[in-house]
Amino acid sequence: MTFSRLKKLEFHDHLDGSLRPLTVWEEAQKNGVNIACLTGETHPTPESTEKWLKSAAASRNLNSFLEKFALTTAVLQTEESLFRAARETVHDWHAVNTVYGETRFAPENHTAGGLSEERAVEAVAAGLKAGSAETGVRTGLILCAMRQNCRSRKTAELCLKRQDLVCGFDLAGPERGFPVTLHEEAFRLLREAGFRGITCHAGEDANEKAVSLAVEAGALRVGHAAVFADQPLRERLRERLIECCLTSNEATRAVSDIRCHPVKTFFADGIPFLLCCDDRLMCNTDLNREYARAADAFGWDESVFIEMNRRAVDFAFGLTDDEKTRLKAEIGESVPSDANL
Ligand SMILES: [Zn+2]
Repeated sequence: MTFSRLKKLEFHDHLDGSLRPLTVWEEAQKNGVNIACLTGETHPTPESTEKWLKSAAASRNLNSFLEKFALTTAVLQTEESLFRAARETVHDWHAVNTVYGETRFAPENHTAGGLSEERAVEAVAAGLKAGSAETGVRTGLILCAMRQNCRSRKTAELCLKRQDLVCGFDLAGPERGFPVTLHEEAFRLLREAGFRGITCHAGEDANEKAVSLAVEAGALRVGHAAVFADQPLRERLRERLIECCLTSNEATRAVSDIRCHPVKTFFADGIPFLLCCDDRLMCNTDLNREYARAADAFGWDESVFIEMNRRAVDFAFGLTDDEKTRLKAEIGESVPSDANL
């Protein structure tokens, strides 16, 4: 089954995890990034570098998966490279019929070349705007704070300051040892300001308690939640949306096999979710592949994916109510009459 003709949303797509392989290589050459030093190869080539990045799919755990980002963030330290990455992301979404997409990145990881965090945000936003003008894809930008650092409050402040460019806040990075509670100040600041676009990685490398903490912190959406939740948590998740990343969860060993993924129980339990890619480069995937894998694993057909996207529209961070109404109609145009989620 192929799903290329379906109109799709993308909510969970990391800018630095979804670069085109050739972009990584070219930006490394242009900016003097020593690929050999990062990959351990004596004579790296474009092909060997791509292979190394995609070997993330055979990682042993989340931390070994995250090691690949040392290279992709190293090549994204200029306004030009950030602009290029964002613009290409929109074109890559367009290629699989994504009609609305949100990318995310951590400004704190892009200041080594002298950029301020705010300039980094402006460069990514400009790239999204250019890509959107060229393709018609609507876009949103989420800023990530890294769990292992102490800058989440600063990132939250930047979200509030630049709401003209930013629609969401996320907490990302290694879960173990860095619980959501370490970043309560950032979440409180956003909640008190009435900032609605809060998402949080949780339940990727931790248990359902982590998911529960993310919900309590104010997350409207939860990234991954690849854990089986108990009934009280399930009740609360019916008011949230799970950003579900099947191939990524398999790569980081969050699940041993996607057929065991809890999304199948979320589906049955009426918990909103959206299939997303997480890191298209490292996971060697795109939304068409994610849909095909889910169809194969869970027996879902087109009607399930259409309804999944239609319901997800309400959880988009970067759309007005009018835009949501229009987008729902656009996605629902071809809803089969027997669609039943
Ligand atoms: Zn992620």
